[in-house]
Amino acid sequence: MRSSLLSVDDLTRADIERILDRAESFAEVSGREIKKVPTLRGRTVVNLFYEASTRTSSSFELAAKRLSADLVTVKAAGSAVEKGESLKDTVQTLSAYHPAAIVIRSPYAGAADLVDRWSPAAVINAGDGKREHPTQALLDLYALRRRAGRLDGLRIWIVGDVLHSRVARSNVLAFERMGCEVTVCGPPTLIPRGVESLGCRVAYDLDGLREADVVYALRMQQERMDGTLVPSLREYATRYQIDGRRLGPHQILMHPGPVNRGVELAAEVIDSPQALIVGQVESGVVVRMAVLYELLAGRPDSGPAPRAGTGRPDPGPGARGRLEPAEEPQPA
Ligand code: ASP
Repeated sequence: MRSSLLSVDDLTRADIERILDRAESFAEVSGREIKKVPTLRGRTVVNLFYEASTRTSSSFELAAKRLSADLVTVKAAGSAVEKGESLKDTVQTLSAYHPAAIVIRSPYAGAADLVDRWSPAAVINAGDGKREHPTQALLDLYALRRRAGRLDGLRIWIVGDVLHSRVARSNVLAFERMGCEVTVCGPPTLIPRGVESLGCRVAYDLDGLREADVVYALRMQQERMDGTLVPSLREYATRYQIDGRRLGPHQILMHPGPVNRGVELAAEVIDSPQALIVGQVESGVVVRMAVLYELLAGRPDSGPAPRAGTGRPDPGPGARGRLEPAEEPQPA
């Protein structure tokens, strides 16, 4: 396994299985009264969040704390980023604390790769623009394996705004790698061209939805939409909303959150026993503990950031996922 986690493509099936098994062992720790192990005592984890987050930032915080790491959380709002400090300067500043890991969430595709080049710390991509969100994919695999008892052969329909979804991209790669059959479904304007090259099928209506074992709904990402990609949210809901009529009695329902109630999901399915949404959130902590463990246990802390151009070798295009949206990384 690479020393950073930037994309699901960094992981083999064996890596994924090891992380999921490790997460199972941390689930036992989460059941204790004192939910802590000394594994990362004396190590520093930096959480660098340039974009809104509830679940991902809080679960990475809890994961680092439960492994006894020292944690520094920097959110763009309230930091020197607001004063115009660049990503590169911020990373070099924080590298002065010799972090073992930097967890980065950014609205720019490729930002985590840049941080990985600039810092000797292990870098974890906690969501970069429309590109990838590998730890979301891992926690989804974990939650689903627990609920369904297996992953191999499951038929999964990912429904909604695939175009703007880094979760869709990472999850198609991860589900496929674990032997699932994936179909992405949504209006043609919200399906990225060439998505089949990730190994999934494409559907433009919900007619075949009943064949799915798992329905994975996506949020309509209005903050990333420019122009009118759907006539209206009402129209979208009429054709694609997952409600009590469309969800079969044996289907498992997943959603990465946050949910737009009444848009991609109807209230009755969100609150039904078929929904795994809360289980997904709960899985975030143990899976992120497992990722930190895999990347950091037995690996020395980073020194100061290298000078420009002397960092790690460029990971190359293969490390950047196969479907790269045309977004510019944040300028250095
Ligand atoms: N929370 C997920 C993400 O950060 C999904 C979403 O925002 O819709 O990508």
